[in-house]
Amino acid sequence: MRKVNIIKNREKSVQKYRFTLQIIFSLLCLWIGVEFFLFARYLESGGTATFYQRPPGVEGFLPISSLMSVYYFFLTGSVHEVHPAGFFIFIGIVAVSFVFGKSFCSWLCPIGFLSELVADFGEKLFGRKIRIPKFLDYPLRSLKYLILAFFSYSIFMGMDALTLKLFLDSPYNIIADLKLYYFFADISRFSIIVLSVLLVLSILIRNFWCRFLCPYGALLGIFSLLSPNKIKRNVSSCIDCGLCAKVCPSSIKVDKVNIVISDECTTCMSCVDACPVTDTLFLQPIKMKTVINKKIVTYGVIGIFIVITAIGIFTGKWQNNLTREEYLLLYKNLDRIGHVSNYDEIESDTTFTNNNTLKR
Ligand code: SF4
Ligand code: SF4
Repeated sequence: MRKVNIIKNREKSVQKYRFTLQIIFSLLCLWIGVEFFLFARYLESGGTATFYQRPPGVEGFLPISSLMSVYYFFLTGSVHEVHPAGFFIFIGIVAVSFVFGKSFCSWLCPIGFLSELVADFGEKLFGRKIRIPKFLDYPLRSLKYLILAFFSYSIFMGMDALTLKLFLDSPYNIIADLKLYYFFADISRFSIIVLSVLLVLSILIRNFWCRFLCPYGALLGIFSLLSPNKIKRNVSSCIDCGLCAKVCPSSIKVDKVNIVISDECTTCMSCVDACPVTDTLFLQPIKMKTVINKKIVTYGVIGIFIVITAIGIFTGKWQNNLTREEYLLLYKNLDRIGHVSNYDEIESDTTFTNNNTLKR
């Protein structure tokens, strides 16, 4: 360790703010889950139970549909009306990643939060971090990019505005949220096995899902590379204690670089908080001298996300325009949807017009 005059870093850690945001966001998702459960109960009753509005926030769990909506928006200039909340949530997440790196993963994402808790538990259980050897880490990390490439190729290469519209208007896309709900509500033995394997791997290896398999994380990783704000190390005041690298959940060798340029950095600020020397590790825009205060990351991440989703809410584009009768009809055909491609096939005496209103 190099001997320099250490000015002790007395800046407050932002980890408790991060933890608070993670809890708030997870509770919000739980609330959405409960509302959606009540909405599904209404559909299951055939419309006789109390009606609960479908929570639009559920569309945040439909990233592929949202990606298609975003592409549709770029091709046509309009927000597709079936899952409009998903569109705004997607844009919000990408915007956060563009400004503050892959921060959505470590500040807001409930799966990221769960992965973190599970990994903390694993480390307590085994008393140490298990690191994957480099020769395995790189190919495994590329898996999520392959999954993303597969979806991106299918969407961007295979679809024009008309094909996109046909898919986005299709019953399959409309009830993708219900399909997802029943995937977990009526979970198959095979899915339980897969999820259990993922859980065990996440206990053993920190952020197994996020680091190796999540295509959303891959996409945000690409945007984070484009972000102008990076973690920087002041080499002249660094005492080479290695604490920053030790706490990094993404196993980045922060103590060996001047600027962290990595698709795996989630701007969690753990390294900055752990650094014992003042003004040695900080978040700073490239080619600028101004250091970004740690608290600005907290307010920035949540602020950007709220502003973009609020645009959707206040422009009246948050809720889709499907009626409960339309949902009841789609629910009746739930098992068949996926095998049929348009409304005419789902019930011979009932069809929809192009703008998704029922026509009897
Ligand atoms: S480099 Fe720092 S901010 Fe990035 S993931 Fe590692 S600890 Fe978090
Ligand atoms: S925590 Fe990292 S940046 Fe800070 S002094 Fe130690 S090695 Fe240097």
